[in-house]
Amino acid sequence: MRDVLSSLGLSYTRQFFLHRPMVIFDFDGTLAALSPNRNEVQLKPLTRALVSRLSQFLPVGVVSGRELSDLKKRLHGLDRLALVGNHGAELVEENDGVSREQSERAILAVSAFLSALDCLSIVRDLPRSVIENKKLSITFHWRGLDLITAKKASQMIQQMALDRGGFRLVPGIESLSLVPRGLSDKGDAALRLLESAHARHLVYLGDEDTDEDVFVKARGERFMGIRVGPSAPSAAEWFVSEQSEVDRLLEVFLALVAGPTAAMPFMA
Ligand SMILES: [Mg+2]
Repeated sequence: MRDVLSSLGLSYTRQFFLHRPMVIFDFDGTLAALSPNRNEVQLKPLTRALVSRLSQFLPVGVVSGRELSDLKKRLHGLDRLALVGNHGAELVEENDGVSREQSERAILAVSAFLSALDCLSIVRDLPRSVIENKKLSITFHWRGLDLITAKKASQMIQQMALDRGGFRLVPGIESLSLVPRGLSDKGDAALRLLESAHARHLVYLGDEDTDEDVFVKARGERFMGIRVGPSAPSAAEWFVSEQSEVDRLLEVFLALVAGPTAAMPFMA
């Protein structure tokens, strides 16, 4: 992996932006800094202004593990953005992605799994907020739990998912998501957004293992994968060292599409 903000990276980016790519971001840990409380994760005003401006020049999307309604609230006012929730499974236009029948089946599978989870005493004793029902998926968040309980609960949830079958396990930061099999992942979602935007080239930024689905599926000269926080192994060819560098990269993108002074009003 190479640093996208190095002189080599900047020169590659300049060439790549001649193709006027679509730019798609993950949300938590990529566009917005992580927070001990996941409900408090928000875009910084500078990031919001840069993304808004970028979306006036290029198609821009956000693909997140969050439920779509939750993501929409956090990106309220950024009306040009194409949004996908639930790890790639929940598109704004249902018919554009997951078939209605498939998503109805997934909702039933999630609800049945949650009822089964309720029968586990270790899960029943956990605070309600640690099991998030995202309708098309379930996320177990263990931040704040003691490690022994977290590990035990996580193992039991994974075992139950294995026994019942039909779920894809998606590890996250201090979390584990269960997504019904057959639903699209972030890679499928990113490629679908690219097609709807009638774009041929894609820049994708993400910080987690689930973003590797995009880096793996979108490879080749029409794609530029950027991992936030260098990580090995990763299928991304580029990285930025940490989330706080993303604004700088947005300024670079903006200068390339809107001219060198475009980002100036937002610069500190
Ligand atoms: Mg993330």
